[in-house]
Amino acid sequence: MSIVTDDYLQISNVSKSYGDDWALKDVSLNIAKDEFVCFLGPSGCGKTTLLRILAGLETQTSGMIYQNGIDISDRPVSERDFGIVFQSYALFPNLTVKANIAFGLVNQRLKRAEIDRKVSDLLNLVGLELAHAKYPSELSGGMQQRVALARALALSPGLLLLDEPLSALDARVRSHLRSEIRKLHSRLGITTIMVTHDQEEALTMADRIVVMNEGKIEQVGTPQEIYSFPQTPFVANFVGTSNRIVGKVCSPRTVTWGDGQTLACDLPITSVVGQSVHLAVRPEHVRITTERSGDNTLRSAVHGIEFLGPYCRLSLHLSPDAPALLADLSTEQVGQLQLTIGSPLFVQIPRERIQVFEGYA
Ligand code: ADP
Ligand code: MG
Repeated sequence: MSIVTDDYLQISNVSKSYGDDWALKDVSLNIAKDEFVCFLGPSGCGKTTLLRILAGLETQTSGMIYQNGIDISDRPVSERDFGIVFQSYALFPNLTVKANIAFGLVNQRLKRAEIDRKVSDLLNLVGLELAHAKYPSELSGGMQQRVALARALALSPGLLLLDEPLSALDARVRSHLRSEIRKLHSRLGITTIMVTHDQEEALTMADRIVVMNEGKIEQVGTPQEIYSFPQTPFVANFVGTSNRIVGKVCSPRTVTWGDGQTLACDLPITSVVGQSVHLAVRPEHVRITTERSGDNTLRSAVHGIEFLGPYCRLSLHLSPDAPALLADLSTEQVGQLQLTIGSPLFVQIPRERIQVFEGYA
């Protein structure tokens, strides 16, 4: 069966159970041609399971997958069009770099000269021309992962699947390969899905991020949307840091909180007066002032200061019962204001920066 759609990949109501446990619960998602999508979520949330179902390495319990308008839900791995890279490289240890990359091409019974030309192009693409005769054990982790990438791209697949490809590498190599993979994607224009638990990786690399939690999609959006407009408390906390404020609705745009403080917010609240709601505000949006100014200004004192290089994360006490509020301030400003533990100050929470989550508190 084929369906008419602009999307290259359609994941429709996919669920997967292992015994009584559900690794995926009714996941639906469309991915456009040439998109770079990251599945982001904590360990065990179902990212790998979903990726492996797309590859046919795992079979969904229910649901459908369409690639290029064709139903591939029941197709075996060998009849699917994808290249895959794993965290563990998974290269053939007894084959040279060149033979690793050529593996799929040889299986396709291409002519020797054709294979040589393609492998040479791929070696060039991943910058490994000089390493063609080496064995995997003679290469660094970063180089091995480049070989794995070249091997995955050898058959010019329509879909590139990457499962935590950078997680085993050290920070410097990881950051370099991040931009290499992005460049490769722009150059080849290949629809790419990368699984990662690393928010920074997802924020810097993805066109769109799919945030997953406990087998479900929490939110899909561009990195900016996910960061600036989290739709659920989970996303607000998993991507970046958020102060979580639980208060009671006072009016459609105000909430009472702590020992009777009132917070005004721009987003309308639909819950009835007296209902608990969950608000979130990012530490970098909390303002510190020496005098009361504007609404949502609260008297406070510095409880802790964490030095993080260019900025400091202040932990502020608003009232004896309320959890500490985190505020990020440039290190320079902390110095100018001569802030130390116990310093009195005013905290201002800009109303336009408050995210409101209803139905969670
Ligand atoms: P992630 O890649 O996000 O870390 P996985 O997709 O690997 O998560 O796993 C999702 C859930 O499914 C986890 O609870 C995991 O224990 C479970 N799971 C994955 N593979 C199997 C399997 N082969 N048998 C039983 N449970 C599995
Ligand atoms: Mg995984």
